[in-house]
Amino acid sequence: MPIDPTQPYDDNNIFARILRGELPSKTVYEDDSALAFHDINPLAPVHILVIPKGSYVSWDDFSQKASDAEIAGFIRAVGKVAREEGLVAQGYRVLANIGMRGGQEVPHLHAHIFGGEPLGPMLA
Ligand code: 5GP
Repeated sequence: MPIDPTQPYDDNNIFARILRGELPSKTVYEDDSALAFHDINPLAPVHILVIPKGSYVSWDDFSQKASDAEIAGFIRAVGKVAREEGLVAQGYRVLANIGMRGGQEVPHLHAHIFGGEPLGPMLA
């Protein structure tokens, strides 16, 4: 069920619980500002989620409230994961679903990284 992107941050959402170590995840990268882990239901040979460590529901929220260091850290983390997964030469997709029309299910901002096969046109 897609979420309302204007809702207050829910401290008990799945990704908040992963960040606190209350739920397991297959971590691929972590630094001060971001955590990256394998999606539980991969839609491509490589399907990794990158999340900021701060409590942000949506891109709107993040882009207004996060510090420049948090924003830079998140963007750099996406780039590092793609590099470390060997996706750079062949290309890959970065996607963020935002709110109801975007189909966002988990109310903690996240970027999907898809790769490892030809991905086709995005809106096919
Ligand atoms: P959204 O639709 O919000 O952009 O995507 C949420 C993603 O989180 C989905 O691709 C879903 O498979 C993934 N996901 C949901 N619950 C869990 C979980 O407990 N662990 C992991 N690793 N991924 C999850």
